[in-house]
Amino acid sequence: MARRKKIYEGKAKTLYEGPEPGTIVQYFKDDATAFNAEKKDVIEGKGVLNNLLSEYFMKGLGQIGVPTHFLKRLNMREQLVRSCEIIPLEVIVRNYAAGSMSKRLGIDEGTQLPRPIVEYCYKDDSLGDPLVSEEHIAAFGWASQQDMDDILSLALRVNDFMSGVMFGVGIRLVDFKIEIGRVYDGDFQRLVVADEISPDSCRLWDIESGQKLDKDVFRRDLGSLTDAYSEVARRLGVMPNNPPSPSKPTLVN
Ligand code: UDP
Repeated sequence: MARRKKIYEGKAKTLYEGPEPGTIVQYFKDDATAFNAEKKDVIEGKGVLNNLLSEYFMKGLGQIGVPTHFLKRLNMREQLVRSCEIIPLEVIVRNYAAGSMSKRLGIDEGTQLPRPIVEYCYKDDSLGDPLVSEEHIAAFGWASQQDMDDILSLALRVNDFMSGVMFGVGIRLVDFKIEIGRVYDGDFQRLVVADEISPDSCRLWDIESGQKLDKDVFRRDLGSLTDAYSEVARRLGVMPNNPPSPSKPTLVN
């Protein structure tokens, strides 16, 4: 079999050319990075968990009519997605103050916000993904006004869906980041939720105990990242049959 063509290698995923034109294979790596890749590690099993969790969220979004790039999961580490042109923005939705917002505005982490707040960051690692306003986005032509209306509506629908799904398993959706892609159908273009939705890109806190079940466990050295992500997967019923558990020996029949 011919070796497939690598299109792009990011921090947590590698993209390969898909089997059909207009498709891409997204491979989830075990690499974890934080603080613009200043902190790095390999966390065995993270890629498998994020692949399964992202599939779960993207499929659910599709079922309630929110368009995504997801086509199907191929195996434990890969999913087939529609290729799209990624809008160079990180779209962040916040329900509770945390992370950079708490620092920037001096609001205690965990303070409930009066309503969901949507922020945009310009996707550029060399600049550290700076926060930008809609004025910047319009002036520099990163997205049109129509795109911005669609992005806001997508972001709020994803927020309602994700908040509800997580609430159902006793988890608070504090904030999350999504990326938006443009797909072309003939002369028409439409926007879809792209990239991934996983505990790498969300803040998830246990409602009862406040325990963090997301990438802050890695960023802030709070324990085992695999245990945290496995707990999210277990509660949602998407835990793989052989949970990735590097610390425990497993019997191979
Ligand atoms: N986020 C992300 N990728 C980024 C920046 C942020 O997935 O490059 C997510 C992050 O996990 C959190 C939300 O977006 O769920 C808000 O992140 P924040 O701006 O507070 O930045 P941080 O404190 O993580 O640097």
